[in-house]
Amino acid sequence: MSRRQALALGCTALLPGGLAAQAATPAQPPPVPPLSRLRVVASFSLLADMAREVGGEAVQVSALVGPNADAHVFAPSPADAQRVAQADLLVVNGLGFEGWIDRLVKATAYRGTVVVASQGIEPRRLAGQADPHAWQSLVHAQRYVENLRAALVLARPAQAQLFERQAAAYSGRLAVLDQSIRQRLAAVPAGERVVVTSHDAFGYFAQAYGIQFLAAQGWSTGAEASAADVARLIRQLKAQKVRALFVENISDPRLLQRLAKEAGATLGGTLYSDALSAPGTAADTYLRLMTHNADTVLAALRPAAAAGAR
Ligand code: ZN
Repeated sequence: MSRRQALALGCTALLPGGLAAQAATPAQPPPVPPLSRLRVVASFSLLADMAREVGGEAVQVSALVGPNADAHVFAPSPADAQRVAQADLLVVNGLGFEGWIDRLVKATAYRGTVVVASQGIEPRRLAGQADPHAWQSLVHAQRYVENLRAALVLARPAQAQLFERQAAAYSGRLAVLDQSIRQRLAAVPAGERVVVTSHDAFGYFAQAYGIQFLAAQGWSTGAEASAADVARLIRQLKAQKVRALFVENISDPRLLQRLAKEAGATLGGTLYSDALSAPGTAADTYLRLMTHNADTVLAALRPAAAAGAR
């Protein structure tokens, strides 16, 4: 018997049965516990999807405002507050999009980092107010990805390489889609690129791809369109020979149906503005949402060109 075994036996003699058996086995280094997945809570569905793309297997992501729901008028529940309190990272859009977030964070015990995905983006402004819908530009979305990557690396340095790799691959896919949309929409004559939506969520898309979007409501869905706004829009639709109107997944379609009827224009389908569609449907990821919106606008403006591009 070696000195070491003798020492081990000497010790085990003092221990109760179960523990003695454990202590008698040759000493093994304790197994390294697998890293737990970072709990990421995103304010709305598009951000949750981006966080999943960048975080991959290292994160467990949920969204406070889910698919087809309107983040402008969201009222958090006690269960939402609890989810935030238990999060490792809270990701928000910023630019005033989530008017309810400060109150929610204050009401919980969450003391972690609040990641502002739009940080560093120069927003469109109207009367001093920022347009929050920056994700509607695929170029800005690449900044979102960069901000998410930096926040995840800071939160979990041990998995930095995974986050770098995932972020680079995802950003590359966003850049490819951006170029493809640019090329396809460039084929539409400038004078024909006018469409209508219910709320003014597509300013960044409009700016990026040279499309004019008219809207019945402003940047938030919180206020109803006034009768004067609707009358003005109908006059504009007739004067500008607008090709198509689109309903949005987060808004009541009736106003747009009425506008189309009064202006003698067609409804061109659904655009996804501030929320993904339900899992398994046309716009259930950010990439699929942007692809669907571009395809839908293009099909309404240039049916022949859209069919040729597919
Ligand atoms: Zn909106």
